[in-house]
Amino acid sequence: MPELPEVETVRRGLMPVLLGRRLVSVSAHRPDLRFPLPADFARRLTGRRVESIERRAKFLLVGLEDRLTLIAHLGMSGHFQLATADTPLRTHDHVCFATDEGASVRFNDARRFGFMDLVATEMLADHPLLAALGPEPLGDEFTGSYLARRLSGRIAALKAALMDQRIVAGMGNIYASESLYRARLSPQRPAGTVGASASRRLVDAIRAVLSEAIAAGGSSLRNHQRPSGELGCFQHTFAVYDRAGAPCPDCRCDAARTGGIRRTVIAGRATFYCPKRQR
Ligand SMILES: [Zn+2]
Repeated sequence: MPELPEVETVRRGLMPVLLGRRLVSVSAHRPDLRFPLPADFARRLTGRRVESIERRAKFLLVGLEDRLTLIAHLGMSGHFQLATADTPLRTHDHVCFATDEGASVRFNDARRFGFMDLVATEMLADHPLLAALGPEPLGDEFTGSYLARRLSGRIAALKAALMDQRIVAGMGNIYASESLYRARLSPQRPAGTVGASASRRLVDAIRAVLSEAIAAGGSSLRNHQRPSGELGCFQHTFAVYDRAGAPCPDCRCDAARTGGIRRTVIAGRATFYCPKRQR
């Protein structure tokens, strides 16, 4: 499933093609994705100029003239692909956007867990999907003291708390495991036992891991690709994610003897960690 770095990579890939351009035609080739598309979806978008392309957590926010915002979520398999007006439609190309420069952007989603919504820009902050989100992990509000305060008193496993979108927005399974490894904190430890200095270390680790992943174009495991069709390459540098039994990159222990990186399940999600390094 695309996480924050993948969505950010998609945002950056769409910017040069869509920003400042007018949508001269929009077509939806089915009435629904995960949810029904809003009424008059194509008609409401057609003719409008794209004024901004932002990201909040794992949502893409395309700001259009006359105060309309398109919210898009990639779901499990959704991706945008750059094309030209005469590129033939592929299977699962569900929504197509054509610009006044002759570019075409196709939203393709085989599993249809993605979705799109239209909202008046002034109502964006109150949208049910966005209203309760915590701060952006790469934003100024997300500090060690903020995180320590939010974790205080919680008995839930630290990794589950990190994936609570009300505490920090956009953290998913891969980057939670990788950040906890970097911060040398056990994913299983009760969240409330993380004090001020460990919270600072964790915030630094989260910011570093996400920034490195964005610079690498995200992680392409099953579905992620950039709008240009290029793949991300951060998966090649995972320290722990999906590496059960492999040696930990820092401990240099004998994995045949110690079992190496462990896999466990926290809040229903596969979790990877080094029991020696992470406490
Ligand atoms: Zn280790």
